[in-house]
Amino acid sequence: MDQSLSSDLLPAADEAPVDVAPEPRSFLDRLFDRGLLIRTGVDGLYGRSGAFESVVEALDRLVSRIGGADGAEALRFPPGMARSSFERSGYLKGFPHLAGTVHSFCGNEADHARLLACLDAGEDWTAKQAATDIVLTPAACYPLYPVAAARGRLPEGGLLFDLQSYCFRHEPSLEPTRMQLFRMREYVRMGTPEQVLAFRELWLARGTKMMSDLGLPLAIDPANDPFFGRAGKMLANNQRAQALKFELNVPVNSEDKPTACLSFNYHQDHFGTTWDINQADGSTAHTACVGFGLERITLALLRHHGLDLDAWPADVRAQLFG
Ligand code: ATP
Ligand code: ZN
Ligand code: MG
Repeated sequence: MDQSLSSDLLPAADEAPVDVAPEPRSFLDRLFDRGLLIRTGVDGLYGRSGAFESVVEALDRLVSRIGGADGAEALRFPPGMARSSFERSGYLKGFPHLAGTVHSFCGNEADHARLLACLDAGEDWTAKQAATDIVLTPAACYPLYPVAAARGRLPEGGLLFDLQSYCFRHEPSLEPTRMQLFRMREYVRMGTPEQVLAFRELWLARGTKMMSDLGLPLAIDPANDPFFGRAGKMLANNQRAQALKFELNVPVNSEDKPTACLSFNYHQDHFGTTWDINQADGSTAHTACVGFGLERITLALLRHHGLDLDAWPADVRAQLFG
């Protein structure tokens, strides 16, 4: 490079630096600035402030109030499930790219010394990490199916469950709405096709009312799961053609790519067959679930009503914190 030319382009040492307009802060940066989300150094893995958590908890209560009279059986599982159940669930067929397995050190003392040496040298130290019997839960309903199956045939009228779990999906992103560890509240219905489809209709209406009462702009759209690979394209097309999945979308990160805050899924007899869950008459049970992304709805509220919870519209505050 021509030295004289490049030094011509540089401001003289006594000149003030050019005043460049600052880049607009992203939504994620503004959440960090406010301390609502807390950086960990990993995209999609965040701490949350007390204020953020107060909204998550309020939403959880609101969902309970709306579904409360239905008599769902509440069950809570830790955010890990049995690897054997995970393997049988079929998750790895559809979503190998999202799964997270728990590994642990399984070496001897010499292996331990090597691990520490690798760590010191900044080299890969994971050689003696082996898969444990635990896999991170990918969706709140996954640990439920084997438990329901073990109870034997469904009663007449089927079953209804209320679940909430941290879920893991390996989908690092700079969109604050796409976390790797997040909480999903769910209701799950098991029974005849008519029973589970009526449940899904009911929650499509209830979810729409809940979110519009919270002052959020929304649309219900047909959707598909993010199946892996070329075979996944066919599964996704099939899911859409049969109207098996709907999402309640709210613009959060952008207007043209709104965010799925609630999902309404009809699994047909997929889990019934996989887990041998049978109706009272012995025929395979159908299942459906409605999932609420608790962080996503919180982020939608922060986006539309502002980062200061005290300044949210009074009626929204009353519904949440009443
Ligand atoms: P997306 O279409 O955005 O990838 P999804 O269709 O995979 O989401 P579901 O599998 O239906 O989502 O999960 C149920 C609910 O969990 C979603 O409606 C959403 O609110 C929430 N959710 C899903 N993935 C994430 C994530 N990565 N971070 C936060 N919430 C999520
Ligand atoms: Zn589910
Ligand atoms: Mg989706």
